[in-house]
Amino acid sequence: MTTDKKQINHSLLRAIPNVDKCLQELLARPEIDQVPVIVVKNSVRDVLAELRRKIMAGEEPAAAMLELEALTPVFLERINKEQQPRFRRVINCTGVIIHTNLGRSILPDEAMQRLHEAGRRYSNLEFDLDTGRRGSRYSHVEKLLCDLTGAEAALVVNNNAAAVLLVLETLAANREVIVSRGQLVEIGGSFRIPDVMARSGATLVEVGATNRTHVRDYENALTEETALLLKVHCSNFKIIGFTREVSLEELVGIGQRNNVPVMEDLGSGCFIDLSRFGLMKEPTVQEVVGAGADVVTFSGDKLLGGPQAGIILGKRDIIERIKKNPMNRAMRIDKFTLAGLESILRLYLDEKTAVARIPTLAMIAEPLDKVKRRAARLAGRVRRDLAGSCAVKVMEMISRVGGGAMPEQNLSSSGVVLSPVAMSVSRLETLLRRLDVPVIGRIEEDRLVLDMRTVADDEIPLLAACLKQVLSGRAD
Ligand SMILES: *Cc1c(COP(=O)(O)O)cnc(C)c1O
Repeated sequence: MTTDKKQINHSLLRAIPNVDKCLQELLARPEIDQVPVIVVKNSVRDVLAELRRKIMAGEEPAAAMLELEALTPVFLERINKEQQPRFRRVINCTGVIIHTNLGRSILPDEAMQRLHEAGRRYSNLEFDLDTGRRGSRYSHVEKLLCDLTGAEAALVVNNNAAAVLLVLETLAANREVIVSRGQLVEIGGSFRIPDVMARSGATLVEVGATNRTHVRDYENALTEETALLLKVHCSNFKIIGFTREVSLEELVGIGQRNNVPVMEDLGSGCFIDLSRFGLMKEPTVQEVVGAGADVVTFSGDKLLGGPQAGIILGKRDIIERIKKNPMNRAMRIDKFTLAGLESILRLYLDEKTAVARIPTLAMIAEPLDKVKRRAARLAGRVRRDLAGSCAVKVMEMISRVGGGAMPEQNLSSSGVVLSPVAMSVSRLETLLRRLDVPVIGRIEEDRLVLDMRTVADDEIPLLAACLKQVLSGRAD
């Protein structure tokens, strides 16, 4: 053995019980009666392997810790953890309403009931109840989408990235698409306009400069091969200063004069003008359709507040071509999404109802007073439960819309700020993240910040219980 190697305690290694012996002991226990044997077996293997690794790395646990009796609670805890679903609910205290990592938009009860029924029972997914013949799954939302937006026709696919790819492939494969250099967006993940364009088989023709693009730039780039003029909404960034963007109206003018269709990828399409809630003005889907765009695409789960989907609106002949594209089948929307989406679209038939019932909109529209009251409620509970173990403050803060929508938009918010006495803030953050119902906040200036704009009223008791569990030291 070389001298710089850690000393390995071989007698400790030998003292680790073997898997079969542990299993024999565990499988006799009534509390894991219902647990699949494979889960028990793998949990035991994992715990023992971790022990072995630690000892190999030079650690020396007390020999008593390797006794079956001492290991059993460790096994049981691991088994319990393995039995929890990996994909589960969290409490979003980040203040980011459309948080892509935390599931983007959440759905109202009425939409969830439709989803439940779609999964639990047979349905007329592709069955025309009038004729008794095969029907189209798109028919359930197409008329609603057209009524709500004024579009001639509509189609829905798996997500907006698929929508963009599908439209480009249908209209512009082996031909040219003109895009402003100021709009060659990366959305995050791996969605970049130039890459999606390449995959669709279309050739990207960039025009203008990063900050300024003029009508003449588009006109000069038109050739026999031009299939499409594409406008991409700058969802997640803003170019400020000396700028010039060609408006959709101008682009539609160029398209009509030259007989080339115009597409807008809106990203986070919204049916409601949010400027009435003090937010900055973004063009609504209806305005974009009304301005004469031939095709419009946007997400179902960003500002629309529905399930993950890509919505394609447009002129009838174009939508028909897209529907017939064999690629469409590979991107088609599933029945759960369709059920949720129809339900959300129905809520939009009455704008007031939509804002009240669709959580994404309700969170954006909620007056600061109500958020403050929620923060005070949580703070009160935490002070009552945990007097002394943590400094608790209610503070004003800034929430974000998120989801690549309105990057500059600040939403005044209120939340609870915690400074624990007996542990570090990062330890508190970690423990909260590891609970059965994880609590996700953010650390700022060495304090844990819990923004209450993204927490529902009925989550406060659970959130308080989570904080109590962690801060009273019963979460390790
Ligand atoms: C978010 C976004 C996309 C991708 O939409 P997904 O629904 O996430 O697939 C595409 N284009 C723009 C402009 C976006 O903002």
